[in-house]
Amino acid sequence: MSRLTTELFIEPKIVRENIIQLKNKIDASSKFMAIIKSDAYGHILPNIVKDIDDLVDGYGVVRLEEAIELRKISNKKILLMQGVYSKEDLKESISNSLDLVIHNSHQFGIVKEDNHFKSLWFKINTGMNRLGFEEDEFMDIYNTNLSDKKFVLMSHLAASNVPDDPSNKIQFDRFDALSSKLHSDVHKSIANTGCIINFPEKSYDWVRVGIGIFGGYIGNNDLKTAMTLRSPIINVRNIKRGEKVGYDGRAEAMKDMKIATVYMGYADGLPNHIKDGTVVKINHKDAKIFGKVSMDVTTVDVTNIEDCKIGDWCEFFSPTHSINKLASSNGLISYDLMIRIKSRVKRYYKNI
Ligand SMILES: *Cc1c(COP(=O)(O)O)cnc(C)c1O
Repeated sequence: MSRLTTELFIEPKIVRENIIQLKNKIDASSKFMAIIKSDAYGHILPNIVKDIDDLVDGYGVVRLEEAIELRKISNKKILLMQGVYSKEDLKESISNSLDLVIHNSHQFGIVKEDNHFKSLWFKINTGMNRLGFEEDEFMDIYNTNLSDKKFVLMSHLAASNVPDDPSNKIQFDRFDALSSKLHSDVHKSIANTGCIINFPEKSYDWVRVGIGIFGGYIGNNDLKTAMTLRSPIINVRNIKRGEKVGYDGRAEAMKDMKIATVYMGYADGLPNHIKDGTVVKINHKDAKIFGKVSMDVTTVDVTNIEDCKIGDWCEFFSPTHSINKLASSNGLISYDLMIRIKSRVKRYYKNI
């Protein structure tokens, strides 16, 4: 047996399939921006870019460092979503041909001083109260500086994954009301993954899609998880009814049981508070977490899996066992699970 270690597989073929599905939901005239912030949601940014470059119209990242790396490997549009905070940032952005989001007057001052009005995306706050101009503030800037300029008007939704949440209508109404006051060459962008799925008519000129391309969108079973996280069993034991497993004795056996200990803990990125009963797959069968996640190991109830033994794999998520199950049964979001896997987990990028 080779050395036992936890493994993370990333499958670009699945990312491509997800992109194609998502593109089919939007207007043919809408352009598709892949949001690949935070190392492509943990999927290894440079590899992903190489494998999806022909399918997308552009990319969005948050950090300037990411955008500069990205520019070395793609000629597509790159949107620096957090924009610039200094003249130096602006200079580097221009030399890397980046599009910039401007979301406050501080940032607008920097581009205006340089008379740089090319490839700007103005973000307005329609209710999330995180980033973006207030409507009046934006209209002042528009009337004095932008009425003859091309730009993209953008906003971001707070609850696009919950179609009935009243905030969606409020945000769309504000966005549409403001954009109707602007000249007709202004492009528009508000859609993230949830918006494409629940409000595809709002795809406008650009969609900005992140979690959907990696299969972590919770309300859709056609998009597949592009990662497989699996860890080997390193011990199997029988316990008697009434015995307890793991720290604080959180899990108590109501019957005689068989417990497998797997080689992944919170030091590998599995959250410490994963609940008892969370479903994992062992030898293609359902098994349940039993006991608190420790630093290096996790315990699983394998009473019903007759043949399981040391070296067998425990799968936490995969294309056939959605990451959304692990997330939703633990009050987590798939985004957080994807980006928290630690570097000591061996990563394999399976090329198409
Ligand atoms: C992360 C992000 C997106 C992508 O959102 P998903 O829900 O992952 O599709 C789009 N726009 C902005 C501004 C973002 O920060």
